Amino acid sequence: MLSDTIAAISTPIGESGIGIIRISGPDALRILRDLFVPKRRIDILPYHLRYGHIVDSATRETIDEVLAIYMPAPYTYTREDIVEINCHGGPVPLQSILTLVLHCGARLAKPGEFTLRAFLNGRIDLAQSESVMDIVRAKTAASLRVAVGQLGGHLSKEIRSLRQQIMNLLAYLTATIDFAEDEIPEQDAETPLKQIQQRLEELLKNADVGMVYRQGVRTVIIGRPNVGKSSILNALLRESRAIVTPIPGTTRDTLEEVINLRGLPVVLVDTAGLTATDDLVERLGVERSRKAIAQADLVLLIIDGSVPLQSYDREIVSTLEDKPAIIVLNKSDLPLAINLAEIEALLPTFPKVHISALTGQGLADLETAIIEAIFAGRVVTSDTLLISNPRHKDVLYRVERHLCAALDGLTAGLPADFIAIDLTAAANALGEITGETVTDDLLETIFSHFCIGK
Ligand code: GDP
Repeated sequence: MLSDTIAAISTPIGESGIGIIRISGPDALRILRDLFVPKRRIDILPYHLRYGHIVDSATRETIDEVLAIYMPAPYTYTREDIVEINCHGGPVPLQSILTLVLHCGARLAKPGEFTLRAFLNGRIDLAQSESVMDIVRAKTAASLRVAVGQLGGHLSKEIRSLRQQIMNLLAYLTATIDFAEDEIPEQDAETPLKQIQQRLEELLKNADVGMVYRQGVRTVIIGRPNVGKSSILNALLRESRAIVTPIPGTTRDTLEEVINLRGLPVVLVDTAGLTATDDLVERLGVERSRKAIAQADLVLLIIDGSVPLQSYDREIVSTLEDKPAIIVLNKSDLPLAINLAEIEALLPTFPKVHISALTGQGLADLETAIIEAIFAGRVVTSDTLLISNPRHKDVLYRVERHLCAALDGLTAGLPADFIAIDLTAAANALGEITGETVTDDLLETIFSHFCIGK
């Protein structure tokens, strides 16, 4: 599989200053020589940018003026020979050059195939490979830091260390199976197992925060019409340091925006749209908030504090159930008309914030409440290792279950071979994070989410 040469356009399709075509594999240099006519007749040297033209040898037509570089294996992204052609960044020059490259014998790369090769050739492990897309898709500078740490191997180092500790225990247990008891010194297996378990728990405890850095916290704004949902959304958008990406809503009538809330990416989902208040619309509104809440990580329930609580508010309150939520009493610039004791009785467990979307008063308190809801008492410092990928989190839960079973077995005095089964399963599962134990199907799934040319 790795004997073929792959190629793809590595920059986005559109108009830009430059566009890059990347070629990786044994034929990369030969293909470049077939297409590239250097301006000055000097040979292509490794790591030297060469100026010249891409010429179709069949028609002798000049396709574009380019800069080309040849990087020989193994010190490259894929550990294979790589050629990059920098041409003008338009779809036609890029496609024309790519077509020529393919005619010369390269195959079109699949999504993520360059990074897959970096993994298969042993330059980076699987967790590091996954972080590449997290870097490309980082929503805030803090998200980027988490992803770059993972590319640097912070997570991999920790996972390998845990796996090694399990392997050591496994080696000891296997020895007790294979040799008579008096031939090997007795070892305490329980304490190290408990220590590994404790570390896993720590990692899992902060995983939710890690996920937020990677994919954002989905925050749904609900409330009856005219309480100020859109005004609050807009106020938060204005306040946030940067609107990162507007993304289309998952339903036709929701609007989603990603904001950077003190470094945390927050996906705000506005359920506004219906403004009439007749019965049918009301029922639809309640139904829609229920749906939106089901997909939310956090809910902002907006109530108009300048008028008494209405039956429609109560209906919407009933859709909250036990979702993490913040009760936002809006229009604090107007005289308070709502019965706060009633709100407290109706929603005793949720934090409440008074704000005015109109004047911006209390907006900082709302932001703080959102941050507090996300961290929920967890202390995360810049050197806390954050699990940010749901796949890794699932694996760690599995490892935890296997370790629990192993510990139960030890406590119950089960024979060593039983415990060894659980420990082997735990070690194998950990290997799925770094890629030591991984199936082709899993690789296929992971890399299919990459962009072409990465
Ligand atoms: P939505 O239907 O819940 O999205 O509510 P809107 O954001 O469209 O606001 C409804 C009305 O309330 C508009 O006329 C806003 O100008 C007004 N409004 C929103 N927030 C405030 C506020 O904090 N104070 C005051 N006085 N009016 C507000």
